[in-house]
Amino acid sequence: MENNTQLKEMIRSMVIDVLQGQKQENASSESIKQAPRGQVEPGVFDTVDDAIQAAKAAQARFEDCTLATREKVIADIRAAMRPRVQELAQKTVEETGMGRIADKVLKLNLTLDKTPGVEDLVTECETGDNGMTLYELSAYGVIGAITPSTNPAETLICNSIGMLAAGNAIFFSVHPGAKHLSILLVSELNQIIAKSIGIENLIVTLREPSIESAQEMMLHPDVSLLVVTGGPGVVKQALQSGKKVIGAGAGNPPAFVDETADIKKAAQDIVLGASLDNNILCIAEKSVVAMRQIEPQLVQEMVKVGCVLIENQQDIQRLVDLTVLPNGTPNKQFVGKNASVILDAAHIPYNGDPRLIIMRTPKEHPFAVIEMLMPILPVVTVDSFDEGLEVCLMLEAGLHHTATMHSLNMERLNCMARKMKTSIFVKNGPSYAGLGFSGEGTTTFTIATPTGESTTSARCFARRRRCCLTTGFNIR
Ligand code: NAD
Repeated sequence: MENNTQLKEMIRSMVIDVLQGQKQENASSESIKQAPRGQVEPGVFDTVDDAIQAAKAAQARFEDCTLATREKVIADIRAAMRPRVQELAQKTVEETGMGRIADKVLKLNLTLDKTPGVEDLVTECETGDNGMTLYELSAYGVIGAITPSTNPAETLICNSIGMLAAGNAIFFSVHPGAKHLSILLVSELNQIIAKSIGIENLIVTLREPSIESAQEMMLHPDVSLLVVTGGPGVVKQALQSGKKVIGAGAGNPPAFVDETADIKKAAQDIVLGASLDNNILCIAEKSVVAMRQIEPQLVQEMVKVGCVLIENQQDIQRLVDLTVLPNGTPNKQFVGKNASVILDAAHIPYNGDPRLIIMRTPKEHPFAVIEMLMPILPVVTVDSFDEGLEVCLMLEAGLHHTATMHSLNMERLNCMARKMKTSIFVKNGPSYAGLGFSGEGTTTFTIATPTGESTTSARCFARRRRCCLTTGFNIR
């Protein structure tokens, strides 16, 4: 009897041991599968802090990887994103209601083709009798990147390539009006990166982006650098954070055409640049300043290549009433819309699918001085080069963004390029040539204007560090 009881007790404790062991095993395999705290889908989190902590941990692993690993992950992003371009363009237009699908395809392909990677991190070296000093560009850590609604996918991919090339992780604070597209992109980029190099959460974002969460991110102690692409309000806000800021703000690029220009080409270039994606690019021509003697021919040529010329003053005023709010800001309802949508709303007749609406205006007209981000392009007439330069400076308003000029007079081209002090100056081409599209050079969708980095790339997203070796490595 006693033996029997002992036997039962032994069996009972063995069963308990086995069951407890199984429970522990299940628990530990669950914890392996479990996503980091607060994670909804790859790279997408519920809170700013959870997202930044995950990015910080990922960056700690990434900074131990080789440059070849960074090159691989960037090559894999380019390759995996290329077949998705049409779908991303379509989804962006569907969600934001801005721009044209075919133009977004061009912009996305440009981003994938011409955003520089690791090769942008150029090492400098000095040698002499006392040895050698190296200057290298190394990661900041976690970068807080703010993206606009106007180029949401292009900016997110372009920033990702440049910031990863420099060894960083990125918290993307995206525009709430483009959140579905941006979340999809962050989640897919995470999957590409995890498959490529086995690191998760190098790119993170929030499931519910908001202005408040963007501001929380700006003040987070684990964010080392802010890269802000947007209007003047958000750049100003970031500059108050006390952190280093790369601020890519608003622009109002004028296109100056003088009497020496190839007028037909100038008209075509201006229309191509100003109408790309319905004028929502910050670099796109926002006004034309034309010398009086060539203005009629220029306007005529612009009409030939897809512009509707509005001559009736009442029609022009109706357009103003429709698209400019009483506080002097553009009516968001028409930002990035096709010209036909704006003309329909203003009850102005037109033929076909015009790319741009043009009209003659004085230089102080709302369409000339406000960054409209609509396919509306005012033409201002001037009587001399000096007057034209003065008007262009007034319209650009010290934003240090973009200007273009069409002329065959070298002296004037040189003079205007110097005096405008813009981050991008295009001579005899569409504004987008300044982004490397049908022009030489790399591309970017973050043109840092008030803070001066200009056309940003990986080297801007890196900390310049000096490493000195004494008494050696000078072989001269
Ligand atoms: P926006 O300023 O409304 O928004 C940009 C981003 O900032 C969004 O993510 C938004 O959520 C956030 N934001 C806005 N106000 C904020 C605040 N007070 N605090 C924290 N976050 C804030 O701009 P948008 O309409 O999306 O984009 C168009 C503007 O961006 C235009 O002015 C355009 O010129 C400019 N832009 C500049 C560049 C450039 O490279 N310089 C590129 C693209 C767009």
